[in-house]
Amino acid sequence: MNKIRYFDHAATTAVHEEVLKEMLPYFSIEYGNASSMYSISRSAKRALEQARGRVAKAINAQNNEIFFTSGGSESDNLAIKGIAYANKNKGNHIITTKIEHHAVLETCEVLEKEGFEVTYLNVDENGFINLEELQNAIKENTILISIMFANNEIGTIEPIKEIGEITRARNIIFHTDCVQAIGNVLIDVKDMKIDALSMSGHKLYGPKGIGVLYVRNGIDFQKLQNGGHQEKNKRAGTENIAGIVGMGKAIELAYSNFNKNTKHMKELSDYFLKELENKIPNIKLNGDKTNRLPGNCNISFENINGEELLFKLDEKGICASAGSACSTGTSEPSHVLTAIGLPSKFLNGTIRFTFGIDNTKDDIDYLVNELQNIVANLRNK
Ligand SMILES: *Cc1c(COP(=O)(O)O)cnc(C)c1O
Repeated sequence: MNKIRYFDHAATTAVHEEVLKEMLPYFSIEYGNASSMYSISRSAKRALEQARGRVAKAINAQNNEIFFTSGGSESDNLAIKGIAYANKNKGNHIITTKIEHHAVLETCEVLEKEGFEVTYLNVDENGFINLEELQNAIKENTILISIMFANNEIGTIEPIKEIGEITRARNIIFHTDCVQAIGNVLIDVKDMKIDALSMSGHKLYGPKGIGVLYVRNGIDFQKLQNGGHQEKNKRAGTENIAGIVGMGKAIELAYSNFNKNTKHMKELSDYFLKELENKIPNIKLNGDKTNRLPGNCNISFENINGEELLFKLDEKGICASAGSACSTGTSEPSHVLTAIGLPSKFLNGTIRFTFGIDNTKDDIDYLVNELQNIVANLRNK
C-alpha cells in the first residue's frame, strides 16, 4: 500500500486534533440538552454560546447574527429560500451566477418552479463575474443576490466588497456562499456589506454535518424546518453541540494561524505550478493567477482523459478530484469549466488539486513525479 497523499482539501478535510479534543467531552460527559435547566445542560448551553461568539468574531458579526445548521448545503438552502419567501411581497427576482455550487443552483431552480425569476450571471475566462452585467441585471423586483465568495472548482475569488457596495446602495439583500473562502481569506461582513453568508465545518478542519448561516440583524428570513424553538426560532432541532463546538474551534484555529496557513498553502501551490511547468508540456492553470484560493490548483492536461488520470493517481495513493466532487461519476463537463469557456481539448483532462495545512513539499515532489510518468504514458498510448 502506498502512503496516502491527500490533495482534495476542497472536498473535505480531516478534523484537526485540537478541534477533536474540544469536541470529545460533548459526546459523553457533557451530553446535556442545551434547552434544559440542570447544570450539565448549562455547560452545553455555555459551549454553544462560546462557539457562536468565536464564529461571529471571525467574520466581524454580532453573536445573534449566527445560526447553526447541518452544513453548507443547508445554509445555502436556508439563506436563499428563507430570504426569498420572507421577502416575496417586495419582489420575485433573484440574481446568481452560472458557477455556483449545486446547493445554490438547485435551490434557485426549485424557486423558479415556484414562480420566482432567476438571472444567472456569466463569468469571464478566469471565472469573474462582470460588475456592469450585475448592475444591468438588477430590476425593480430584485430581492436577493447570491454570489459565491470563492469558487470550489477553480478557486477564483469574486469581487465581494464591490458587490456589497452595489447591493447595499440598491437595498438588495446580498448572500454569499463562503464555504471555500472561510479560513482561506480574511472576511469582514460589515466592511464587505454582506447580509447573509454560508459556511461549513468540514472544509476547514472541522467536523462534517455542521454549518453556519450568518444573517445580518434586520434581514428577515423564513425558517424551513419546523419543530422546537432553537436558534431564535429560526432552525428547529436539538443543537449538535459537539459539532458546534468543533465548528467554533475550527474557525478560531483557522484565523489564529491564518498567516502561517495561507503562506504555507501558497508556497506549495507556487512550487507545484513551477515544477509542473518545467516537467509537463501542454497544461493550463484554470482560474485567476492572483485572486485565487491559496491551496487551489485546477489544472487542465491537454489530450488526457481526466478519469483515467485520477484512476492512475489513485493507484499511487494520490487523492485529487475531477473538477468537483459533485461532478464525478458523470461524463458531462462541469458547469464551471463550461461557464469559463474552457477549450474542448482541455475539457476532459481537468483535475483539481487542493492543498492543505498537512501537505509538505515532499508530497508535491511525489505528486509531480507521478504525474510526469502517468501523463507521458497516457499520451503515448
Ligand atoms: C462543500 C460546499 C458546499 C456544501 O457544504 P456541505 O457542508 O458539504 O453541505 C457548498 N458550497 C460550496 C462552495 C462548497 O464547496
